[in-house]
Amino acid sequence: MNDKTPQPPGLPPSDWPELQPGWVWLCGAGPGDPGLMTLHGLNALRQADVVVHDALVSDAILDWAPQAEKIFAGKRGGKPSAKQSDISLRLVELACEGKRVLRLKGGDPFVFGRGGEEAQTLVQHGVPFRIVPGISAGIGGLAYAGIPVTHREFNQSVTFVTGHDQSGETPSSLDWEALARGSQVLVIYMGIKHARVIADALLAAGRAAEEPVAVVSNATLPGQQVMETTLAQLADDLDRSGIEPPAILCVGRNVAMRQILDWQGLQAG
Ligand code: SAH
Repeated sequence: MNDKTPQPPGLPPSDWPELQPGWVWLCGAGPGDPGLMTLHGLNALRQADVVVHDALVSDAILDWAPQAEKIFAGKRGGKPSAKQSDISLRLVELACEGKRVLRLKGGDPFVFGRGGEEAQTLVQHGVPFRIVPGISAGIGGLAYAGIPVTHREFNQSVTFVTGHDQSGETPSSLDWEALARGSQVLVIYMGIKHARVIADALLAAGRAAEEPVAVVSNATLPGQQVMETTLAQLADDLDRSGIEPPAILCVGRNVAMRQILDWQGLQAG
């Protein structure tokens, strides 16, 4: 190691688990800001022989495992990417080679991250594994925009929704009318591409045209952008804004809290 090799931050004293050869730890890296990684995640980074990561994991976090081989297994909407079954089997192979394998995913591995599918494959092949949860973008990302995902005055429920299905289309399995009626706050992942269809469906189901909506892209990262709009204006405003994925949409009255709680804006003066 030379002087420029990034040194992983230390861990506070505790009885940290050992990532053993032949094991896979399926770990969430949080929404982007490296400080939102968990200590279990950091412990894994310090021990891994190989880190299999997706596109949403920050380089700064990967730099905390200078000793590990990095394998990119990214999936980005619309772009050619590794097949899910290939990624899962690669994890099995690496574990069978006796590697200490860290599978690192953006946010939480079990929230729209196919972590469950990968874990299923590990079970099928008898590979021992551990799950390390992470802060999901739909909660932590909104918090960085000053939006509480629940606020007692406005919502006693929140629904996490994906705007894509496996084919990249708006999930036809979703009953948007029921969601519109039943959920006070909707937090929509992967919703940018189909924002117009989603907004139209919610409006048709009776949600108010002036209902507040926030779009938070690159949440918790230096390039974070937040756009506040209304359900009726969402699609046009998105077209004009040039905002790109990754982004979270939040539909609900809680979004108005940003007027008071935009802590990053307050710091910037
Ligand atoms: N497992 C992840 C979600 C993976 S799906 C989690 O728990 O957060 C990928 C989608 O997550 C993106 O299309 C986007 O909707 C959302 N996302 C992830 N990171 C984000 C970020 N930093 N800012 C905004 N949205 C993000």
